Amino acid sequence: MAIKDQPQPPRFRQISNILLLLSSLFLLANIFLPNLFGPQIPQVPYSLFVHQVQEQDVVRASVGQNEIRYQLKGEGDKPGQVLSTTPIFDLELPKLLQEKGVEFAATPPSKNGWIGSVLSWVVPPLIFVAIFQFFMNRQGGGPQGALSIGKSKAKVYVEGESAKITFADVAGVEEAKTELVEVVEFLKTPDKFTAIGARIPKGVLLVGPPGTGKTLLAKAVAGEAGVPFFSISGSEFVELFVGVGSARVRDLFEQAKKQAPCIIFIDELDAIGKSRSSNASFGGNDEREQTLNQLLTEMDGFAAGNTTVIVLAATNRPESLDAALLRPGRFDRQVLVDRPDLSGREAILNIHSQKVKLGPDIDLKAVAARTPGFSGADLANLVNEAALLAARNKRLTVAQEDFFEAFERVVAGLEKKSRVLNEKEKKIVAYHEVGHAMVGALMTGGGEVAKISIVPRGMAALGYTLQVPTEDRFLLDESELRGQIATLLGGRSAEEVVFGSITTGASNDLQRATDLAERMVTTYGMSKVLGPLAYDRSQQSFLGDGMGNARRAVSAQTAEAIDQEVKEIVETAHQQALDILKENRELLETITQKLLETEVVEGDALREFLGQVRPLDKVAA
Ligand code: ADP
Ligand code: MG
Ligand code: ZN
Repeated sequence: MAIKDQPQPPRFRQISNILLLLSSLFLLANIFLPNLFGPQIPQVPYSLFVHQVQEQDVVRASVGQNEIRYQLKGEGDKPGQVLSTTPIFDLELPKLLQEKGVEFAATPPSKNGWIGSVLSWVVPPLIFVAIFQFFMNRQGGGPQGALSIGKSKAKVYVEGESAKITFADVAGVEEAKTELVEVVEFLKTPDKFTAIGARIPKGVLLVGPPGTGKTLLAKAVAGEAGVPFFSISGSEFVELFVGVGSARVRDLFEQAKKQAPCIIFIDELDAIGKSRSSNASFGGNDEREQTLNQLLTEMDGFAAGNTTVIVLAATNRPESLDAALLRPGRFDRQVLVDRPDLSGREAILNIHSQKVKLGPDIDLKAVAARTPGFSGADLANLVNEAALLAARNKRLTVAQEDFFEAFERVVAGLEKKSRVLNEKEKKIVAYHEVGHAMVGALMTGGGEVAKISIVPRGMAALGYTLQVPTEDRFLLDESELRGQIATLLGGRSAEEVVFGSITTGASNDLQRATDLAERMVTTYGMSKVLGPLAYDRSQQSFLGDGMGNARRAVSAQTAEAIDQEVKEIVETAHQQALDILKENRELLETITQKLLETEVVEGDALREFLGQVRPLDKVAA
């Protein structure tokens, strides 16, 4: 589900409802009041009134909207009769009255008449406005009214407005910051880049779990860039009516191009950017699809000129985005905004605790050490909770114990959202990941191990080991595939070596390892026993999108042999991983300690460690 599919500004709805109610009351009052109060005045037809005026029988008249009251000439001392008539629209009337010497006033002198006529002036427009607003709001047109239904609702920030957010307010996401600092620099001094022929990135997509500071980073870009910044949430494009969203996109880009150089920020991009094929079976969603298409067109459109409009977008579900959005020339730059590591968390705590008064005993580093897996928003919340606790305990400054108590409160609410590992789990995950890394370091084909992390990431992984390919590989040989399988089993093997028991954490690894082994046997024909036969049959799935795999009809013996072979491959790899880790037991310990300390090991430090892994054949052979 998108985060907020139907944003309704409830305030405007309320206002229009109240207006509607008020105006109905006024209308009722208008109908009944004149009949409730005052003497009844005889009604005459308008034509008679005009005739009487022409005959100069009328002394004075008060002309209201619904009623004209007038007094006839009296006879002697007796005052003349008061009559009333319903006016028709007559521009000549004032002239006529003047000519015939009638005293007249636009405001009726009578004690109750004015209520009715004033109301009748005011009420119809009120009703109109109220009904109109009511419907506009229901249709998501917002407070802007009918004519602007296709207008973009983007908020524009211009430099100097409100409290500025800068890069100094964001911490723990250094890579993303570097990337965005470059974008800002580009907007400020484009010549520096164009002089050497560099092309400006057109779209930058911020990707990361909720609360890690994506929106904050975008605001910081706005604060630093000094150019107009159009900010809109993806869900604001999602409308009931087909075509409205795309009109908004068009309008947004039109406005932006006029103000170039500038930045467009689309938050929660997945609300419009959802993959088009993913819901094709339900007939698709025309409105969203059109909006997305318009966005794609617009992003291609401004390439031609040299208007510098940079489109920034954020999402926490990049996997659901349409592939067309991610291709080069659109959001080709993806910036990962991940959960912060230890030092990052300390920096974020520092930023947010500047707003509160800290006691002398505060050790933010210790707080940071307790909070792996916390996002920036979680940490901001933690600081606030601690401050609230201090206030509740009538202390003037926040103490360390407030932080720890707040931590417990926050974690209780957090457990569902993201994972916070306890000490024991953290240790298991650390050994597990180091196991992957060490086995991976010896195996060819899997690429270089670039990073080990035990900062829980996303929803699935508790920790991860990142392998980056050293070169483009299209063909892998058998030993490399076996190496990959061993690497996948390295995590579980480390748990076995260290703890003698295994946890549920390795299930995904096992799945992948088994899949790979099965493919070796049934698709690549790498088994000596079964020979170069493809037991898999790729076939077009009946939906016509994507391939489904089915096994060729095989005899029971063959099926059994396949299972045997797959098992053999996986078990051999498992043994290999175990051997490697047992052989390098102390190194496993050293790296794990380091990882537990810093949560992330990467770069030269990691290379240095993994360079010490002793290969097996020295002993085994
Ligand atoms: P999201 O990634 O979901 O867009 P936000 O940018 O809305 O997250 O973050 C919400 C709040 O959490 C921010 O306003 C800020 O107070 C705090 N926050 C999140 N990440 C960071 C960070 N890296 N540094 C400082 N504060 C952060
Ligand atoms: Mg956000
Ligand atoms: Zn694993």
